[in-house]
Amino acid sequence: MGNVAVGVAVIGAAAVVGVAALVVRQQMKSSGSWARAMAIVKEFEEKCGTSDVKLKQVADAMTVEMHAGLASEGGSKLKMLISFVDNLPTGDEKGVFYALDLGGTNFRVLRVQLGGKEGGIVHQEFAEASIPPALMTGSSAALFDYIAEKLANFVDKEEKIFHQPPGRQRELGFTFSFPVMQTSIDSGTLIRWTKGFSIDDMVGQDVVAELTKALQRKGVEMRVSALVNDTIGTLAGGKYANKDVDVAVILGTGTNAAYVEHAQAIPKWHGPLPNSGEMVINMEWGNFRSSHLPLTDYDHALDVESLNPGEQIFEKITSGMYLGEILRRVLLRIAEEASFFGDDVPPKLKIPFVLRTPEMSAMHQDTSSDLRVVGVKMKDILEISNTSLKQRRVVVELCNIVATRGARLAAAGILGVLKKMGRDTLRDGGPEKTVIAMDGGLYEHYTEYRNCLENTLSELLGEEIASSIVTEHSNDGSGIGAALLAASHSQYLEDKSR
Ligand code: ADP
Ligand code: MG
Repeated sequence: MGNVAVGVAVIGAAAVVGVAALVVRQQMKSSGSWARAMAIVKEFEEKCGTSDVKLKQVADAMTVEMHAGLASEGGSKLKMLISFVDNLPTGDEKGVFYALDLGGTNFRVLRVQLGGKEGGIVHQEFAEASIPPALMTGSSAALFDYIAEKLANFVDKEEKIFHQPPGRQRELGFTFSFPVMQTSIDSGTLIRWTKGFSIDDMVGQDVVAELTKALQRKGVEMRVSALVNDTIGTLAGGKYANKDVDVAVILGTGTNAAYVEHAQAIPKWHGPLPNSGEMVINMEWGNFRSSHLPLTDYDHALDVESLNPGEQIFEKITSGMYLGEILRRVLLRIAEEASFFGDDVPPKLKIPFVLRTPEMSAMHQDTSSDLRVVGVKMKDILEISNTSLKQRRVVVELCNIVATRGARLAAAGILGVLKKMGRDTLRDGGPEKTVIAMDGGLYEHYTEYRNCLENTLSELLGEEIASSIVTEHSNDGSGIGAALLAASHSQYLEDKSR
């Protein structure tokens, strides 16, 4: 008996030693892989570095490309498209006007009643719908029929408070936020798709003609009086509210900017000089690229696998469609190469675009002491449960790296535009006040991103100049702006030369 008991004790002791050895081995393994994960994070952070020196180089490169794009067609990655908007709304506009806003995730229809100088925007109403993903890569007829149908429903519900003078055709401003070569204020051809859209039969076609055909198919009696994009609309809407608005920047699904340029400073413009002497330029800055941009392996891979490889590089590191996806790629790498989430790579983490920017911003802005939101998101979206606080901190750190790079680069882009406009230095009469109308879901909802952008811009401009440059959220300016531009280019204006 005694022997047996001793034997059990010996086996028991051996087992304890064995378990202890296993724990130590696992700890060594996990501390080794933790170190590996941290090395990957650190390298990523370094590659994403945006020192002030680098940002100033990016801003200078933006200014240089703006000049090149204005000099000749195809002179730069920046298309610097002439918008044919040479008169922003004055406030005198009157009547009921419609707008359609198509440019990414959501699609909006709206109507406004304009009351002239005294009245301003008397009434406004809108309806919103998401674009079914299948329509983003189908045929132009399918996409435009869908839009025309939504518009038809909306027009049917026009209430009595909107006063449309009898016998007058309804007019519409179309905000179509993709690169378009304008041929006039109310016509233009699609250059290429961005932001996940890819409809081959539409490229090279006149956007207004396609919409007009769809409106006819759906029985909507309406004239398309202005074709703009979200930056032009935001500029117009912003200027209506505040005359100091001279720049508009969109940070939403994608990113772009527009500004007011002196018509003589556009060598490629061969038309008559507008009375105002000014022309709004749609920069299409999402396609900006420069050797100064801090690009990582993750960005290159994302680009190569995208629908538009080699294009929209600035957009792919700053805008809402891509930030969450960059984060996913880094998390996947630390999962694969450093077993960050255990021996198995979580399968959900392998799905492109599964981690969206709104979820990333919710994790980034998690203020709970145990990072509860991060834990819930990791579980709900990626099916990674039981993350440790240490792991969740790393996730937040990665969100911060990705968002900071994007926001700081967007600020550098704005500095580039201000430099081109000569608003980055003190003038004789003191600094000239410039208001930048900002819009887009990323800017609106991602507070960390917005704060970082605004702080960076002030830091780059220096205190004295920064006090005269104001960023202002122009809520839904793009839709209202398009309606305003439809009004200022109405077929019923007595003096069409205004
Ligand atoms: P679009 O650019 O498609 O016209 P929006 O301006 O509404 O539309 O921007 C939508 C984009 O904004 C989304 O694709 C997303 O990337 C980003 N976004 C929306 N909400 C948030 C949020 N809470 N945090 C961060 N980004 C957000
Ligand atoms: Mg938009």
